[in-house]
Amino acid sequence: NNDTEPYDYLFKIVLIGDAGVGKTCIVQRFKSGVWVESQASTIGVDFCMKSCEVNGKKIKLQVWDTAGQERFRTITQSYYRSANGVVCAFDLTRQSTFLNVEKWMNDVSKFCEENVSKLLIGNKCDLTEERAVSREECAKVGSYYSVVDYIETSAKDNTNIEASFIKLATVLLEKHSSSN
Ligand code: GDP
Ligand code: MG
Repeated sequence: NNDTEPYDYLFKIVLIGDAGVGKTCIVQRFKSGVWVESQASTIGVDFCMKSCEVNGKKIKLQVWDTAGQERFRTITQSYYRSANGVVCAFDLTRQSTFLNVEKWMNDVSKFCEENVSKLLIGNKCDLTEERAVSREECAKVGSYYSVVDYIETSAKDNTNIEASFIKLATVLLEKHSSSN
């Protein structure tokens, strides 16, 4: 537990995307390095704190997981309002979750601050046989929404999970250290 450690910057990141794309597994993997096959879908908003170091700065990331609310589309405005960064995740094996990125990005533009940094994640890249969308399509949608990057991840295999958050933290750090 490093909750009391000092830090240089605290960034709030919200994780959005359809139910079942792997958001809770991604947070678990990032937070504790573990893989938990089945996640209880609790109603509410869960968050975890995780410290990392970027360019010699201690960054504390507060990562918010939508924990079941996505099913009812009742994620409230306040949840988005204070976000510095947004991770929009979809499931590479389910095209509907990719098509819904549009819906999620619309919510982001409606409810987030204009300068929020967005990252697009295609999760479950371990399931190569079942892949339903091409990398090119995904990257194209990513640039359409001006994301800082499009990254393919696997919470199961621990592929690019930490790298994704570090990428977002790096962009946020650059933004914040140049603005003051
Ligand atoms: P959430 O509803 O977005 O929070 O999704 P969960 O984290 O609860 O995961 C939904 C399902 O996808 C669970 O059965 C997970 O085991 C599975 N899952 C999550 N991430 C991965 C992944 O990277 N690869 C594979 N193969 N399955 C995953
Ligand atoms: Mg969940």
